[in-house]
Amino acid sequence: MRGLTMDYQLTVPAILRRAEALSGGVEIVSRRSDRTVHRYCYADMIRRAKRLAVALKALGVHPGDRVATLAWNHHQHLEAYFAIPSLGAVLHTLNLRLHADDLAYIVQDAGARVVIADRSLLPLFERFRGRVNVEHVIATSGGGELPDWALDYEALVAEEGAGDFEPPDLDERDAAAMCYSSGTTGRPKGALYSHRAIALLSMNWTAADTVGVGRRDVILAVVPMFHINGWGLPFTAAHVGAKLVLPGPYLDADSLLELIDTERVTVSAGVPTVWLDVLHTLDSRPGAYNVTSIRTLVIGGSAVPNALLRGYQERHGVTVMQAWGMTETTSLATVCPLPADLESAPIEKQYEWRTKQGVPMPFIEIRARGEGGLVPWDGETMGELEVRGPTVVSAYYNNPEAGSGFTDDHWLRTGDIVTIDSRGCVEIHDRAKDLIRSGGEWISSVALENALMGHPAVAEAAVIAVPHAEWGERPLAVVVLKPGHGASAEQLRQHLAPSFVKWWLPDGFEFVDRIPRTSTGKFLKSALRERFRQRSQES
Ligand code: ADP
Repeated sequence: MRGLTMDYQLTVPAILRRAEALSGGVEIVSRRSDRTVHRYCYADMIRRAKRLAVALKALGVHPGDRVATLAWNHHQHLEAYFAIPSLGAVLHTLNLRLHADDLAYIVQDAGARVVIADRSLLPLFERFRGRVNVEHVIATSGGGELPDWALDYEALVAEEGAGDFEPPDLDERDAAAMCYSSGTTGRPKGALYSHRAIALLSMNWTAADTVGVGRRDVILAVVPMFHINGWGLPFTAAHVGAKLVLPGPYLDADSLLELIDTERVTVSAGVPTVWLDVLHTLDSRPGAYNVTSIRTLVIGGSAVPNALLRGYQERHGVTVMQAWGMTETTSLATVCPLPADLESAPIEKQYEWRTKQGVPMPFIEIRARGEGGLVPWDGETMGELEVRGPTVVSAYYNNPEAGSGFTDDHWLRTGDIVTIDSRGCVEIHDRAKDLIRSGGEWISSVALENALMGHPAVAEAAVIAVPHAEWGERPLAVVVLKPGHGASAEQLRQHLAPSFVKWWLPDGFEFVDRIPRTSTGKFLKSALRERFRQRSQES
């Protein structure tokens, strides 16, 4: 119909044009591998990203080709984030914590033609180089020699005449980026993100009813840029023109706190394990770091323990906002800010709300399905969460057999067992594969972990199912105590007893030094199940 609004394409180059026009002077700060800090501004980043795009084109990269990155969070990786999609190619971020066999599979499955790798990660690449058909390897600066099979990133970006880049005409439905799920449940599966999905996710971060990110913010991108596009934060920062801080390979608590303090960070995001470590450091060395600049820490990827929310709020004045999302949803799909009517509610009620995974982001639709069909939004009936929306993948890349991940009417089946309340707030009780089925009833490991991590002596807790002759499965708690603290199994059981029916209480408690983590920093429960499989039978 004539006279309609413009058919303006929501693309990564559109984000870049906006940053170039409005935010050229805003700073981007990166920690280098030698710990020194690199500073420049969006104008510099954009100029170099364009040169990189020209260089990639000269190497034979065409629209639709996959260009992989194997890199920590730093300015050169950020340049690749914008150069590759602006060329019409697909930014394929590789999880550098994966095993070389998985990386070889992922690179081949995606058909990446070029890899941009940190020089310090070339030894990892070398371990699977012979198994992949990559035509060019470009090494960023940093530690290590440049092997004769790699090109120097800085030399490519410095080439003269490379500055006049014009992105091709892109459709917002073209692929801009891709990530693979970490494969803790079978072969890694690829998720392909459109320009439109990335643009809309960037908008969603800025909405007042979500995190409300704006140009006054200073964003510390703690989430690795290989984990679901750093949850979209690098694109969001450029979109709004917020100062961006990239921590390089240093994700330990002191390095992060130093950046938060010196750069006056206002917003950050990441998985609970990272922020538990940061909280322990803040608690154990009061006054060592100033964190008063932070207004919101967005934490998700696995359930946020109540004790983490309370610890930050009550002892350090930092507000944590829980978020839920998946590789398949271009990261954040629900967030849990406190609704206005709960602002004056008793504090316990507020924490109760904030321990949930939250309400859907704009344009995300949710529902949950139990054995008898869709479940009511009563906050009590459990079912598997299903989602749809413009940031949700419609299929897996190159993998038609993974069709069981979708319903007949094309919603994504998340594998998360949830309740939804009358306000549309989702609460995750477990991942389907982590659920404990005892005597035909479900026990929520998330609820038990949450309560255990509320004990003053407990640093971390994971509750797993172990086989049991009579009940099928029984819960076993695996606990890490805080340094210098002690608690017996009986004391922990007594701590849980008032909050749970008796048959929910773990049969056994195992004390360990560390809970193994997945490549994205979540508790690796499959390894615990393997290790403690015999426990319940023996006890
Ligand atoms: P992986 O399967 O490798 O962990 P993802 O990062 O895509 O890959 O994980 C998505 C899953 O993480 C979700 O399906 C859910 O089980 C879990 N998850 C994400 N955010 C939360 C959260 N806030 N609370 C509980 N679980 C979460």
